[in-house]
Amino acid sequence: MNDAFTKEMKERLEADQARLQKDLGGFASVDEQSKQANYTTNYQDFGDGEDENANEVAAYSNNLPLENELEKELRDINNALKRIEDKTYGTCKYCKVEVHENRLRARPTAGSCVACKKTLTQEV
Ligand SMILES: [Zn+2]
Repeated sequence: MNDAFTKEMKERLEADQARLQKDLGGFASVDEQSKQANYTTNYQDFGDGEDENANEVAAYSNNLPLENELEKELRDINNALKRIEDKTYGTCKYCKVEVHENRLRARPTAGSCVACKKTLTQEV
């Protein structure tokens, strides 16, 4: 991986990381003690009326799957940033060949090359 490319990917990952943290912060609380990104969806209090209670439940059940999805995305990004730090970014974690830049541009969090990904997907 050349430095300019890694830097470009790092900037993209950091921008995505900031966006996700902001989105998650809007409706979930982060566990500061956890080393991994670990969020909990907030149960919002709209009021004590029946309608308000129903809306609280609806908001909560809408946010819960969203939280899980964003949290997973954020963890992938954190892992990719850690690989940049460890200088292993862009190397396939299975066969250790260099992952093609085009693949990383399309998916900056990719940790494996296309060939390994295909093999794995076929096995499932
Ligand atoms: Zn591979």
